[in-house]
Amino acid sequence: MSILWVLGLGISLTSSLLLLFFYLKRKNASGLNLSGNMLEDYVRGNQDCVTEEGILCRHCKENTVITRNIGWYRENLIREHVCDRCKCRLYFSLQGKRELHDLGE
Ligand SMILES: [Zn+2]
Repeated sequence: MSILWVLGLGISLTSSLLLLFFYLKRKNASGLNLSGNMLEDYVRGNQDCVTEEGILCRHCKENTVITRNIGWYRENLIREHVCDRCKCRLYFSLQGKRELHDLGE
């Protein structure tokens, strides 16, 4: 009887913790800390990574950067730029709706 009770309590506690975890994770995804992680910041902080071939990864100097659309910030699309080799996130950039519309995306 008491073992079942403890087990039930444990399960409900675990599931509420999981729910909280996913809630916080979701909240974090939409409330990304963009300041200090933008393209301008990356260029300013990693001037050796700015070359004629484009922007290099600060970790492995790879020049192939993948761009992913990850959400919206006000009227702008948030794009995440990730190194193709080591998969490290390098910086974010914002793309306005109007600009996006002009590109036909
Ligand atoms: Zn890299």
